[in-house]
Amino acid sequence: MLHVETLTVGPLGCNCSIVADVDAKRAIVVDPGGNYPAIRARLEVLGLSVSAIVHTHTHIDHVGCTAELQRASGAPASIHEGDRFLYDLLPVQAQMLGTELPVIAEMDGALVDGGSLRAGSLEMGVVHTPGHTPGSCCFVVSDAGRTRVFAGDTLFRGSIGRTDLWGGDQNAILSSIRSKLLSLPDDAVVVAGHGPSTTIGDERARNPFLQRR
Ligand SMILES: [Zn+2]
Ligand SMILES: [Zn+2]
Repeated sequence: MLHVETLTVGPLGCNCSIVADVDAKRAIVVDPGGNYPAIRARLEVLGLSVSAIVHTHTHIDHVGCTAELQRASGAPASIHEGDRFLYDLLPVQAQMLGTELPVIAEMDGALVDGGSLRAGSLEMGVVHTPGHTPGSCCFVVSDAGRTRVFAGDTLFRGSIGRTDLWGGDQNAILSSIRSKLLSLPDDAVVVAGHGPSTTIGDERARNPFLQRR
C-alpha cells in the first residue's frame, strides 16, 4: 500500500515528503531540507527503510539534512546533473541566506528525464522541468487511479517558482509546466515545494502565471 506524508522542515519551510510502500517497508524521501530528527522519527514510527533520497533541485533549503539521512540509511542521494553546479555553490547559498552550511552529501546525478526510481512496489517517475533551476525535476507517482506530483519549487498553489537565482529562466519554467505538468490529469495532486498542495486542474484554471492572454 502506498503511503505519502509531507513534513514542513527547515527555516524556509521546505516540504519534505516520505513516499513509501508500507507493505515492503521501503521509502523514497523527497527533499530532506532540514529537521532530520523529525524525518527520522516518522521513518521509525512507520518502520520504513529508505531506498532512495531524491531532490527536486539543490537550493539549500531542499538539501539541508541529506547527508545525515544518507549516513543513517546508506541510501543513494540523487540530483539532476544540471543542478550539480548549484550544489557546489552551497557555501555561497548559505552565506546569501545567512543559514548554516549543511554537511555535504554524496550526490549522484542519477535523475534523468523519463527515468524512474523504485522502493518495493512503488515506482516514481522522474520529469525534468528546468526553469526554477537548470536541474529542477518533478516526481510523479500513480496509485489506484490517483496521480501525485512532487513539484518542488516549479509549481505552487497560485504561483510558480522564482527564476531570478542562479540559472533560473522564466521562459523555461513556463514551458516546463505547460508541456510536462499540465499534461497530467486534472485531479492529479500537486505537492509543492513550499506551502499548501493543489491540483493540476486548479492551477490550469486559476494560476495567474498560466493564463494565456
Ligand atoms: Zn528553490
Ligand atoms: Zn525552496
